[in-house]
Amino acid sequence: MKEKLLYYSTNLKAEKVSFSQALLQGQAPDRGLYLPESIPQIPLDVIFGYSQLPYYQIAYDVMRRFLTGEIEDGELAALVEDAYDYPVPLEKVCDRKFIMRLDQGPTASFKDFAARMMGRLMQYYLKLNGQKLLILTATSGDTGSAVANAFYGLDNIQVVVLFPGTEVTDRQRKQMTTLGNNVHVLALDAKFDDCQALVKQAFSDPDLEHLSLSSANSINIGRLIPQIVYYFYAFSRLRLENHPEEVIFSVPSGNFGDMMGGILAMKMGLPVKKFIIATNENDEFPKYLASGHYDKIEPSKNCISSAMNVGHPSNLARLVALYGGQMDEKGIIHQAADMDMMRKEIFSVSVTDQQTRETIRKTYQDHHILLEPHGAVGWAGLLAYFKEYPHEADQAQLCVSLETAHPAKFPEEIQRLIGLNPPLPKSLEGLDGKAEFVKNLPVDYLDFKKFLLDTF
Ligand SMILES: *Cc1c(COP(=O)(O)O)cnc(C)c1O
Repeated sequence: MKEKLLYYSTNLKAEKVSFSQALLQGQAPDRGLYLPESIPQIPLDVIFGYSQLPYYQIAYDVMRRFLTGEIEDGELAALVEDAYDYPVPLEKVCDRKFIMRLDQGPTASFKDFAARMMGRLMQYYLKLNGQKLLILTATSGDTGSAVANAFYGLDNIQVVVLFPGTEVTDRQRKQMTTLGNNVHVLALDAKFDDCQALVKQAFSDPDLEHLSLSSANSINIGRLIPQIVYYFYAFSRLRLENHPEEVIFSVPSGNFGDMMGGILAMKMGLPVKKFIIATNENDEFPKYLASGHYDKIEPSKNCISSAMNVGHPSNLARLVALYGGQMDEKGIIHQAADMDMMRKEIFSVSVTDQQTRETIRKTYQDHHILLEPHGAVGWAGLLAYFKEYPHEADQAQLCVSLETAHPAKFPEEIQRLIGLNPPLPKSLEGLDGKAEFVKNLPVDYLDFKKFLLDTF
């Protein structure tokens, strides 16, 4: 096998590790996030050749470059084929402006792309080493269901999901609680941040070390790499032959894992003109991009695009690192990033709830395209960019805005806005009648710890 690509921590105080070590550890010991030491490059002719390949083969060719010397080609090929067995529609809105629907996976959010691959890779390495892992994950909705579903039934892995009992929709809850088996779901009478705090405390508790705890949230490099792929896929399907062009992508963002996948794709050689990072009213990033000064938002604001209610995106440390700076896990900048370069490649805008609702209504009225709140933030971000740079609105300019969840996950909002009940995708059918396995727990670390020690 070829020489391994190593991964360094953004806090620069931990040893470099292999992909499998980074994957199984999650966070680096110095609390930084892992990034590859060098970014693999894909030549343009190879990227052009992707037009002939199905999604899973593009996934194979992009991801193998991050796993050199870490997995046999045939093994990786089998994992991606198994993980990506659902469509990735590109819907035309107008001219050469498209919505990429990343909502066709088993839990109907884009998080399936990453969770399914991460689960399979983890299982592969655990079996190889005869290890076991206990995944703890706090969720405000989509991560919990994607992870629970992706890890359901895998050997050597147990999953504990903590969620704020009253803050997820019935459908979101049932996507997690109806599984059972190796998926253990805890409902807490708390906010998401409290759930997250319990998980973090468990990670640093020496009494739990023997349980081999790990995390499945977007700080894990194993979740990031699969999210590079669909940017290449969109370009391969939409580019015009014999016509050099660069894409504008708009990414509705919360923890910035999705957007980091896109930025990495660009740094690997994908022809991108601009990334639009659209946030909801949690506008810490657009402010940072404008001023170079970073202030997190505490507590984060509650918006209807609830999966993006993030006041301090954990992946920001990675973005800053890619632009030559250094930010620690608390959001303190130790070395400034190249802000001019960042502004050249990225445009960022905050979208209010009111604008989000108007966008859902208007996009349906004008184009018969059904968006949900997260995708609407992305599309509104693209429109905001055109407003500021009208010449970019040119009909020939290729633009792709990401739709990150299925509208049927938010039936109440959509019903209210356009009087339509979004049709249920197959993956969400049949949830209503199923039995739920869920344990209610008070927000108390000792109770949580006792649960872990008693159960595992
Ligand atoms: C998680 C999530 C996002 C935000 O993605 P990040 O990678 O955290 O920026 C956007 N939309 C939906 C539907 C999500 O579940």
